[in-house]
Amino acid sequence: MSEFIRTEERENCPLCDNIGKPLLMGLSDRLYRVPGQWNYLYCKDCGLAWLSPRPVSEDLGKCYPDSYFTHEKPDFADPLSVDTKDQLTAFKRRLRLAIPREWFNYQHLPKQSYFLSATAALLMLLPSFREKVTMGLGQRMVS
Ligand SMILES: [Zn+2]
Repeated sequence: MSEFIRTEERENCPLCDNIGKPLLMGLSDRLYRVPGQWNYLYCKDCGLAWLSPRPVSEDLGKCYPDSYFTHEKPDFADPLSVDTKDQLTAFKRRLRLAIPREWFNYQHLPKQSYFLSATAALLMLLPSFREKVTMGLGQRMVS
């Protein structure tokens, strides 16, 4: 992750090509400590917000640690197939998939059981849990 990450400016809206307006400027990555300063621009016409500068697509993987949950390939197919056989660990792994799927619309993640989806929804109603899951960005990310 400490590798150099190539970036590109994106000054126009990716949807309608209008010039972006500053939304959040001079941000740093508090979660994975990706080096650099990042800005969010937004479109006055369609409301889209986007990162600029943003990592070029070839370097996007460098922004995430090797332990990032999307790199745990065997767990995606069946979280219970891990060697641990620890039911609590398996439950937590499934919950970690259910929350981004149900709350942030990550439809590429596998659909979880109704019980897990409902549990994720109930937990996300708790302000302290939502704050932890969204790394302090809860009010901006979940409204
Ligand atoms: Zn736009």
